[in-house]
Amino acid sequence: MTPLVGQFRRVVLKVGSALLVDRARGRLNHAWLAALAEDIADLHAQGADVLVVSSGAIAMGRTVLGLPSGPLRLEESQAAAAVGQIALARTWSEVLAHHGITAGQILVTLADTEQRRRYLNARATTLKLLEMRAVPVVNENDTVATSEIRYGDNDRLAARVATMIGADLLVLFSDIDGLYTAPPAADPNAAHIPVVERITPAIEAMAGGAASELSRGGMRTKVEAGKIATAGGTHMIIADGRTKNPLKRVADGGRCTWFLTPSNPATARKTWIAGALEPRGTLYVDEGAARALQGGASLLPVGVRRIEGSFRRGDAVTIRSDSRVLGRGLVAYDAEDAARIAGRPSREIEPILGYPGRTEMVHRDDMALGD
Ligand code: GLU
Repeated sequence: MTPLVGQFRRVVLKVGSALLVDRARGRLNHAWLAALAEDIADLHAQGADVLVVSSGAIAMGRTVLGLPSGPLRLEESQAAAAVGQIALARTWSEVLAHHGITAGQILVTLADTEQRRRYLNARATTLKLLEMRAVPVVNENDTVATSEIRYGDNDRLAARVATMIGADLLVLFSDIDGLYTAPPAADPNAAHIPVVERITPAIEAMAGGAASELSRGGMRTKVEAGKIATAGGTHMIIADGRTKNPLKRVADGGRCTWFLTPSNPATARKTWIAGALEPRGTLYVDEGAARALQGGASLLPVGVRRIEGSFRRGDAVTIRSDSRVLGRGLVAYDAEDAARIAGRPSREIEPILGYPGRTEMVHRDDMALGD
């Protein structure tokens, strides 16, 4: 049994250039996009947080600039993205506004999702937009991303963004209705796979190897995205985006491939915090704070008695009382600032530091406590 799309509370939708942009005319497929916006509005009205990862900047910009077809040089695609992204963002903003939904543009680079400080920053902004019920529209910042520091494909970018915000579902809209045992264009016996429980080498082989001409169309990067998503506690779907109202089609049981995760975003994140990171310091908390943390609260500066170590904002720290280690967390302040506000109520953070920092020293979502 696969889950139902309607049961997810935070959903990322990835839309590729081929679906959005009519390459022959170099224009957006307006009717298609308007129909997708209806689907998004329905999901949003059911209470789900929705985030869109949209490609199409380079494809649109190259037509406007009159660049020839065929591969572009890096500077050309950067220039094309600069031109195309304006139109892309405006279009999303318009089609969503039609349903009373506010869109917010977020352009990210690889470093924003890989370096912890920048990751936390991108995450905080995105979560704030979702909290305000806006729909963030994300793309890679292609104009500043050079080949060594770019994702280059929005499939993996979407998977990283999905795990970054703790999404429980990622939907990749493609020009095919899922994964097949072999590329169907080349093999008439290729069978559709409705559910992938675990991404094994056999599954990866079905997506085609790097050298294969037939792997173009991106099934390989989609399976890569599936690995990122499922490791981070996010289920993933590959679905055919070429029909009108493609999300509704999937929600109504249309054919697609599910990549299931055994975990959930909160658990996956806590496992990561508890295991993957080397603590850079220690926060000693008082007994009252220790009890509050165990009851599920965040750690406020007022509960911190003293700090040790020289950590930076976003680093992992050990959280302990005098008598015992409680767990680990990602700290919201550099060590110096943390020391200055330790023991003080949150309303004093701004007068002491001179800037309005976060209310919590360690947010509960950024904390993994032992049993
Ligand atoms: N970021 C690129 C663009 O907006 C697209 C990357 C992709 O198609 O995966 O043009």
